[in-house]
Amino acid sequence: MSKVLIHPAVDNGVKPSIAGFQGGELSCHCADHKVTVRLTSQTAHNHVCGCSKCWKPEGALFSQVAVVSRDNLTVTANEDKLVIVDTAAAINRYACKECGVHMYGRIPNESHPFFGLDFVHTELSKEQGWAAAEFAAFVSSIIETGTNPADMPAIRARLNELGLKPYDCLSPALMDAIATHIANQAK
Ligand SMILES: [Zn+2]
Ligand SMILES: [Zn+2]
Repeated sequence: MSKVLIHPAVDNGVKPSIAGFQGGELSCHCADHKVTVRLTSQTAHNHVCGCSKCWKPEGALFSQVAVVSRDNLTVTANEDKLVIVDTAAAINRYACKECGVHMYGRIPNESHPFFGLDFVHTELSKEQGWAAAEFAAFVSSIIETGTNPADMPAIRARLNELGLKPYDCLSPALMDAIATHIANQAK
């Protein structure tokens, strides 16, 4: 059996976060006139995601995505190159129109459970110390984008081996946070 590749940021083992890490700069893949985004805090809830919407680097089975408070995110260069991938989606993903890299995702709906949090891919930064990936979300969704269902047991085994517990939605903690938000709104 060939080695299962999940995402370049975790394939050689999940890198630990560094205590006191205060953020850094994300850059798109363009050779020049890069779009840059500055994060002024550590990220949270970093995970690998199998859904079809999150940006994945070339050849990766999963994306790696974390959240940061939108107050701590600023586009610092070439913002004019950013376009929203799908304005109808719950998350507006801002991508570089030249290289296709998603620089951040923002939720416009103020009643969404994750309103106020932006979604970012910290592998776009050269700095070390970002929040470590903690789990794998929407694992079964990779079948929708072409993975052979027969490969799933090996993929789930590899995720477990990396310490990235596989879930077919978000992690229980995040699913509980969403349900709590919905319950509070209904009161
Ligand atoms: Zn670019
Ligand atoms: Zn996703």
